[in-house]
Amino acid sequence: MRDNQTPPLAPGSTIGMLGGGQLGRMAALAAANLGYRVHVYSPEAGGPASQVTSLNTVADYDDLSALESFAAAVDLVTFEFENVPAATAEFLAERTPVRPGPNALRICQNRLREKDFCNSISVPTARYAEVTNADSLARIARDFGYPCVLKTAEFGYDGKGQVFIAYGDDVKAAWNTMSGGKATAAAIVEGFVDFRMEISVIVARNGAGSCECYVPVENHHKNHILDATHAPARITRDLAERAEITALRLAEEMDLQGLLAIEMFITSKDQILVNEMAPRPHNSGHWTMDACTTSQFEQFIRAVAGLPLGSPERRNNAVMKNLLGNEVDSWHEILAEPGAKLHLYGKTEARPGRKMGHVNRLTART
Ligand code: AMP
Repeated sequence: MRDNQTPPLAPGSTIGMLGGGQLGRMAALAAANLGYRVHVYSPEAGGPASQVTSLNTVADYDDLSALESFAAAVDLVTFEFENVPAATAEFLAERTPVRPGPNALRICQNRLREKDFCNSISVPTARYAEVTNADSLARIARDFGYPCVLKTAEFGYDGKGQVFIAYGDDVKAAWNTMSGGKATAAAIVEGFVDFRMEISVIVARNGAGSCECYVPVENHHKNHILDATHAPARITRDLAERAEITALRLAEEMDLQGLLAIEMFITSKDQILVNEMAPRPHNSGHWTMDACTTSQFEQFIRAVAGLPLGSPERRNNAVMKNLLGNEVDSWHEILAEPGAKLHLYGKTEARPGRKMGHVNRLTART
């Protein structure tokens, strides 16, 4: 594997981006502002990211000859989603630097590894255990008590692959719902957390080991999909500091070179429990595009390219509202609102729940 501690990437270099969605699009725009070219690799043609760059490869993630040519055409590879197959990341890492690097990817791809990692550095999470079939699920659920939460270890997002199990529920049916009817699967059971707020913290770390952290924000979901983010989170200074310290520790212990978003629960007793991590820009960081000196997308590019990090200073308070499905139809009214900044992703079909864009509503900083 090539050394990941290479010098800063010079302007004019080409960043390879695995994944062609809206996160890739906004990262590509930020990269262009810093003088880079971006080459998007995605199995689908014409997605949000490829609309904003002229360098595109449309191929599957296991197409070795396409990956070979892609690696030869770029100076660095990063990704806009963490479910890149491990074999793809390894194949590319033998040919060109891949950032955030295999460690962050390996940990964040799997909920069990994520929680084991937190545990290994004494960062609290919900109580959890591995389950692999309906029998082990029944045993652990009895032990944990109800309600509890069953999740696939990998490839879950926006509540997909997740089942809440209440007292008296049919545990076997819950297993089948989560596993799609498979007798065995990699899964995790978590104790139910009676949280009073969900927050997230986004932290950046570059190759020189400098770290910068955005203020904790407060996240509100509808049907398991992020609906709105309030920045900053309406929590005490003490809680905010504890959340930031946790985020910085996770980034350092992971030896991150990139961006890490950490979702956390705040319990009624003001305990902070880490729920999930993503080694990339995150939907709950979109507010930074208009309210901070450096957006999360610019910070992501700076971190993976080994540049000095930008200031994460918050210049405004903000509420980020996702435009899901046909909520995007209100684009015209949003544009007429003072203090509202609209971002659309170039998707043509507004399916229910699909992230079509977002709006940042800015107010004076408090
Ligand atoms: P996740 O896919 O882990 O981000 O979970 C999606 C949402 O389900 C979270 O944002 C929470 O609202 C809820 N959730 C997940 N895990 C738990 C848990 N252990 N206890 C209570 N609620 C949870």
